[in-house]
Amino acid sequence: MLFSELSEYFDRTESTSSRLEMTTVLAELFRKSTPEDLRHIIYLSQGKLRPDFCPEELGMADRLVLRAVSFTTGVPEEEVERLAVDTGDPGRVAEVLVAKKKQMTLFSEPLTLDRVLSGLRTIESSDGRESQERKMKHLANLLHDSGPLEARYLCRIVTGRMRVGAAAMTILDALAEAFSTKEDRPEIERAYNITCDLGLVGMTMASGGMDAVRGIGVKVGNPIKVMLAERLPSIAEVVAKMGGRCAMEYKYDGIRVQAHIGPDSVKLYSRRLEDLTSNFPDVAESLRSRFKGEEAIIEGECVAVDTSTGRMQPFQNVTHRRRKHGMDSAVKEYPVRMFMFDCLFADGEDLTVRPYLERRSRLAGVFDVSDGIGMSVMRVVGSPEEGADFFREALDAGCEGIMAKSVDEGSVYRAGSRGFLWIKYKKDYHSSMTDSFDLAVVGAFYGMGKRAGVYGALLMAAYDPDSGVFETVCKLGTGFDDAFLKNLPELLEDHRSTERPRSVTSKMVPDVWFEPAVVLEVVGAEISLSPIHTAAMGSVKEGSGLGIRFPRFTGRVREDKSPEQSTSTREIEEMYLLQGPSSEE
Ligand code: ATP
Repeated sequence: MLFSELSEYFDRTESTSSRLEMTTVLAELFRKSTPEDLRHIIYLSQGKLRPDFCPEELGMADRLVLRAVSFTTGVPEEEVERLAVDTGDPGRVAEVLVAKKKQMTLFSEPLTLDRVLSGLRTIESSDGRESQERKMKHLANLLHDSGPLEARYLCRIVTGRMRVGAAAMTILDALAEAFSTKEDRPEIERAYNITCDLGLVGMTMASGGMDAVRGIGVKVGNPIKVMLAERLPSIAEVVAKMGGRCAMEYKYDGIRVQAHIGPDSVKLYSRRLEDLTSNFPDVAESLRSRFKGEEAIIEGECVAVDTSTGRMQPFQNVTHRRRKHGMDSAVKEYPVRMFMFDCLFADGEDLTVRPYLERRSRLAGVFDVSDGIGMSVMRVVGSPEEGADFFREALDAGCEGIMAKSVDEGSVYRAGSRGFLWIKYKKDYHSSMTDSFDLAVVGAFYGMGKRAGVYGALLMAAYDPDSGVFETVCKLGTGFDDAFLKNLPELLEDHRSTERPRSVTSKMVPDVWFEPAVVLEVVGAEISLSPIHTAAMGSVKEGSGLGIRFPRFTGRVREDKSPEQSTSTREIEEMYLLQGPSSEE
């Protein structure tokens, strides 16, 4: 396929705000692609060369990309940079300048998808001395044979700005439209949830249809989307919802890790699919040495512990293990223990389709516990009183609450979904009626008075996975300490946007917009109907959204969550309904 044709499709996708239309455009593109091309097209549409869980080093700095544009078009660097400041998007600059240049160029070779992929891989793998110069030249090479639209997308891909608006759910819709029917959509989604590889699902569908998709299974090395819990406001309601009997586990306050144990290696993934193996080398080693089987995928929570007393330490301690540098000393200074709570695959068998108690006993059977790893504490309870006792024990042990888990025959592991098979209940629910929220920063307001010169407040949004849109839910100006305020501009800088991002709906207009990327934990007094905020707009009352009153930052940056893993607008609506009658903002 020619890259010019693909770029036109990207442009059409980007130009529409209707998800239905976007799906139709993508379905048309998918139908005319070969299976192998389709795989790469899907990755490229997400701005990547590989599935999300594979680390990528493509990220070129804007300045380097602008130099490549200057090199190809002959426009002086200063002028290219000035244009970039005006538009805030190197892709647009490249498009405009390449368009001017094209009128004069006679010879150029058509740019095929294959050539683009191999050029991008060369850029990615250039390292060592003068690698920056070589990256620049490789990009210039591609730009030389590009038309304006191709230049736009090449520059966006290499700078990590490829946002054509096609969220994973839209790609899955488009695959269903291109190769099967709506009825098959849940099975297509399941294949994605158990592999986290959209390209693989696309290629499999294009080559073998739904039968082949059904054959996609859980595999060591392909992270599985994590199962999540609903919340209820009392232990009695939790036990009742579970039918009077359920398992309860301690809810540990740490970092969730999915371990893939193969014959030769152990890999650890975070819930946002980052490779955490080098952050927890001690846990990986314990898992390897204490494992009694061939292969397995298990989940657990890594918690900082005091090795002399065995007591669990506050969450802040384990966050030192998320550093990029100085990991050796963090490993020594902050020992951790992994509390294992689920087993999704063992020795060739997909256990996600098996009931909870069976998965749990498989988990207990394949490990010898040690200092570094152990089973989460679990008890089956048959009444609210037993549940309340267990909850108190969990708090005494230093946990933040309990996770109730269904023990029914149908208590499978629902990859990628939040449901009532798991229900969380935390100590915070005692004191306030709502849980904490994890919200994406989408804007900032400049501070005044003491906060002049730094951001004084942030515009925060929840996520609606059905529409792929971030909807605002509060303006957050409380809970920041001086050090955090000072670091905020740096934390947010890479995500600055010259205009409201396409994926954000907002009635408020902040001084600075940000692409959703940074997730902060926020608590609030209550959720109220709001004429200003767009979260769950119209779902409770026509013309009203939902807003969080008196929001306060807890001090926790949720580095373990991607923006799409922010609290969903549906959860906010549920929490609003749970809290009973409330005020209007
Ligand atoms: P929270 O901020 O409450 O952790 P969340 O949105 O991150 O919420 P939830 O599904 O709401 O995720 O809560 C489940 C999380 O609790 C899991 O992702 C996991 O990290 C953690 N956890 C701690 N102990 C357990 C356990 N025994 N079983 C399952 N999850 C546990």
